[in-house]
Amino acid sequence: MSNKKYDVIIIGGGHNGLVAATYLAKAGKSVVILEANPEIGGATQSVKAFPGFDAHLSRYSYLISLLPDKIVTDLGLSFTCVSREVSSYTPYGDKGLYVSRKWDEKTSASFNELDPTGQEGQAWQDFYAEVAEFAQRIAPTLLEPLKTRSELMAEINLPKVWEYLIENPIGNEINKRFNSDLVKGVVLTDALIGTFTSAYDIQANICFLYHLMGNGTGEWKVPVGGMGALVKELIRVATESGVEIKVNSKVNSILSDDAGVTVETLSGDKYESDYLLSNAAPQVLAKLRGKPQPESLDGSQMKINILLKSLPKLKSGIDPRLAFAGTFHANESFSQLEQTFEDASAGLMPANMPVEMYCHTLSDPSILGKDLQEAGYHTLTLFGLHTPASLFDADNDAAREVAFASALSSVNEYLAEPIQDVIAAIEVKTPLDIEEAIALPRGNIFHKDLSMPFREDETDPSWGVETDDPRIFICGAGAMRGGGVSGIPGHNAAMAMLSNN
Ligand SMILES: Cc1cc2nc3c(=O)[nH]c(=O)nc-3n(C[C@H](O)[C@H](O)[C@H](O)COP(=O)(O)OP(=O)(O)OC[C@H]3O[C@@H](n4cnc5c(N)ncnc54)[C@H](O)[C@@H]3O)c2cc1C
Repeated sequence: MSNKKYDVIIIGGGHNGLVAATYLAKAGKSVVILEANPEIGGATQSVKAFPGFDAHLSRYSYLISLLPDKIVTDLGLSFTCVSREVSSYTPYGDKGLYVSRKWDEKTSASFNELDPTGQEGQAWQDFYAEVAEFAQRIAPTLLEPLKTRSELMAEINLPKVWEYLIENPIGNEINKRFNSDLVKGVVLTDALIGTFTSAYDIQANICFLYHLMGNGTGEWKVPVGGMGALVKELIRVATESGVEIKVNSKVNSILSDDAGVTVETLSGDKYESDYLLSNAAPQVLAKLRGKPQPESLDGSQMKINILLKSLPKLKSGIDPRLAFAGTFHANESFSQLEQTFEDASAGLMPANMPVEMYCHTLSDPSILGKDLQEAGYHTLTLFGLHTPASLFDADNDAAREVAFASALSSVNEYLAEPIQDVIAAIEVKTPLDIEEAIALPRGNIFHKDLSMPFREDETDPSWGVETDDPRIFICGAGAMRGGGVSGIPGHNAAMAMLSNN
């Protein structure tokens, strides 16, 4: 037994645990973080994934949008993200739809090539202008106690947008606004990342919202130095504020009563505190407390990290430095996404996997050593959609091989040379691999299903981080308004706990 009683124990050293810890320590609380792994960071770690190569990759999460500037400022994080000038590139036949971050002539010309009437381009601009306005109004509420559905609707005061983003399936609005299957698919992908759902299920709306509301702009930026740079800064501010961090300390049990909380680690160490914050997923917390585990969707993505000797050329002839600088979509038309969802629901591994990729080093080469940079190496992050954990249950190794082959052939359909020819090193992670590495239940990248960012009318006031035990709070992605690299649940759990004192 540690002879010190802490004010707060935090289970898990993901970025949210670090955010919560620092807010609490700055408020004068004694805090210890117990992390199961030898590395801090959870899904935000950067690692040298490829032995022999000086490449420091964001192993899991790779782009940042949801982290509010307020948290960066409050905690004094010296950390920067850079914009990607290219938003996306989606090849079709021997052409491709190119979209800049800001609407420009090149984007306009590309939309016109797809749809000479100009309607599709106009629909795109109108739709995203409306969504941007909504994002701007909702973002500041994410760091406040939860509003009720009616309060939030009144505060945002965009009834038409509220209706299609919150109340009706987003698939209906996408079909109403756009004609091209390809364009519809590009829009839809934001509703499906890490979420195994149909375009016609409200779960897709929630995922869409989280991908479009970050920091009031929804822009996805590249963390300079990779996600590990954020973790490094969070560790710095936490330890400077007095937080104790213990790695290789997997929590095995939690006991809470009137006197306080006691946790025990696998190696038998015991810690006591007045409060406990769980950065581990709600299912993990429930198990540690001996409670029934809440239900949640399977994680549903393949994550492939690739080191390239050079960028592959494309059939469409576009400069690969443009095609891969933003999100590169392959086989992600609306109908392909819906069909793949149906197939995967029936137990079939996607034959032509919908994938998206992006090249970190085109925006931020600093994650590669000088020698690799000079030799023209690049990194590529590939995300395969609609590959739920259930498809890997019977034989993870065999299913990984099949899924990997499907992902590569999907990409190769649009390349002038097989990607295999330029791969220097690669790692492939299924949802089950991710669960094993960092305890994301069934590989769900958001810990559990994302939830709408409000509470229902006539429910008790809350921050969306509370549990049935007043000493225990959720400070990780599994809280309401959690999910993604945001620090929001970390902030909110700290505020909820402090408001109890
Ligand atoms: C492949 C992948 C790609 C993603 N891409 C993006 C992206 O580009 N942008 C984005 O915003 N989000 C992305 N996400 C989602 C995002 O990374 C996560 O939602 C977020 O990082 C979760 O942060 P967290 O701090 O709440 O939890 P985690 O990062 O999951 O940290 C929880 C920590 O708790 C520890 N832990 C668990 N159980 C115990 C225990 N019993 N004892 C002690 N410690 C324990 C774990 O080891 C882990 O370190 C991605 C996630 C994945 C997996």
